Amino acid sequence: MRVVNHRLIGDNGTPVEFRRSPNQSDTIKPEFLVIHYTAGRSASSSINWLTNKDARASAHLVIGQDGATTQLVAFNRKAWHAGSSRWAGREGLNSCSIGIELDNPGRLERRVNGWCSTWGDPVDPANVIEARHKNGGAECGWHTYSGAQLETLQNIAVCLVNHYDLLDVIGHDDIAPGRKSDPGPAFPMARIRSAVIGREQEVVEVFVTVAVLNIRSGPGVEYEKLAFGPLPLGTRLEVIGESGVWRHIDVLDVLDGDSHRTGWVHGHYIESV
Ligand SMILES: [Zn+2]
Repeated sequence: MRVVNHRLIGDNGTPVEFRRSPNQSDTIKPEFLVIHYTAGRSASSSINWLTNKDARASAHLVIGQDGATTQLVAFNRKAWHAGSSRWAGREGLNSCSIGIELDNPGRLERRVNGWCSTWGDPVDPANVIEARHKNGGAECGWHTYSGAQLETLQNIAVCLVNHYDLLDVIGHDDIAPGRKSDPGPAFPMARIRSAVIGREQEVVEVFVTVAVLNIRSGPGVEYEKLAFGPLPLGTRLEVIGESGVWRHIDVLDVLDGDSHRTGWVHGHYIESV
């Protein structure tokens, strides 16, 4: 990945697909990277919307669940993704940030037939985590991010942070708390941030499993076991949330070729190393 003329060039040396959005203004010098979820049905439907002038919204990049990346706005132009926002003494982060939208339906609703998107499509329970948002509110379901999508995001974030000397990677829910919930509890912000920014104080506390351990979609034995489990003895984990004795964890080891697995485990069977 590299940046040439404020366009993203893929590992194969060709620019990623560019679909220009009319929803842009002014030249900017980016200082922050802001992560979003689309809360949409698909990457292509979100790209269509964000390139429609009626949307009055855009982002620099949209990353699909398969990792396919589309650029809508050059990185030195103001995209309209943050809205009313505040961070590190700045107001209106559109003027000083690059915005990345991750294709993800976001917050889910519990209906009689199980977890559904807000427009009513059922969601496979293996792709749902239940958690309370760090900004408050009731515990609810959130659609997980795929390994391919997070891998691509991390590579792009490293590239953009290095190229533009960005100061930080932050969520829309950090800069507009109360108004916005994206990228939400399913997004492993602590790990992405420490991998990308590499700050000493952001080094994560590592836990390991002290038993072969079932991993579930929610905090309790009533939740489904996730198909990639059980976790082998000694699996390295980061704790990203908790509910009673249950711990919401991000698996740090690669399982089945995927290094971004998340789920819930019983807290008695993990230990800090
Ligand atoms: Zn957002």
